[in-house]
Amino acid sequence: MDYGFIHCLDAVEDWDSYQKNGVLEYLLDMKQQGVVKHIGLSTHTPELANLVLDAGMVEQLMFSINPGYDYRHGDYANGSTDERMELYRRCEAEGIGISVMKPFSGGQLLDAKTSPFKKALTKYQCMQYALDKPGVLTVLPGIRYAEDVQELLGFLNATPEERDYGILGTFAPRDAVGNCVYCNHCQPCPAGLNVGLINKYYDLAMAGDAMAADHYTKLEKHASDCVDCGHCDSRCPFQVKQSKRMEKIQARFGF
Ligand code: SF4
Ligand code: SF4
Repeated sequence: MDYGFIHCLDAVEDWDSYQKNGVLEYLLDMKQQGVVKHIGLSTHTPELANLVLDAGMVEQLMFSINPGYDYRHGDYANGSTDERMELYRRCEAEGIGISVMKPFSGGQLLDAKTSPFKKALTKYQCMQYALDKPGVLTVLPGIRYAEDVQELLGFLNATPEERDYGILGTFAPRDAVGNCVYCNHCQPCPAGLNVGLINKYYDLAMAGDAMAADHYTKLEKHASDCVDCGHCDSRCPFQVKQSKRMEKIQARFGF
């Protein structure tokens, strides 16, 4: 068995009993014997995730990520937008890969009648949204039939326009506005900057991710290449003052 999962813990009390009832001890014993190679955690709650990550035994996190939950709509919309983003950054910084559960919020986001935004999103928009979050390695949509698999695999050939979820900017709550979500809706940058990636590495570096500065160094274009044309400012659906932000990013990394 490669993975042993601490499964579906959402309350702090669950974690307490997990530690007391012998299940965790058993899992750790299996790992010591080499039967279990890695330990993962599945949860819907940032507070609980952070608590278990603090114990330092988890290498993979299954977490429900979609725009509804991140913007406080839906059954598992636990934690504020900022708390959730901090968790994703923490996972990236600590090398804990996130597998995303419920990318369509149980299908609610795909139908204007059930979407909290009153507009339907597509599967590809939701998948790209989840994949753009720091720490995310995989998205696991539910499937029933072979056709579902075919449809989801179409994501690999989808155009940037089909994956673009810039429409979310019109639904973003106040505390999410002004923060870059790495969506690259503002492309193309005339100076060739990958605006989303530059911002992601900057945010990760600011959150203490030692690898992020190295990743930034390896980019072809850096914040210092920005010509301050304002194109991204006018295109950003999340009202990020990106040209100003590029100045900050340049100051942080030195180029
Ligand atoms: S500046 Fe805006 S459009 Fe560009 S990547 Fe960030 S959030 Fe997306
Ligand atoms: S302001 Fe800078 S980052 Fe934005 S589009 Fe223009 S050159 Fe690119």
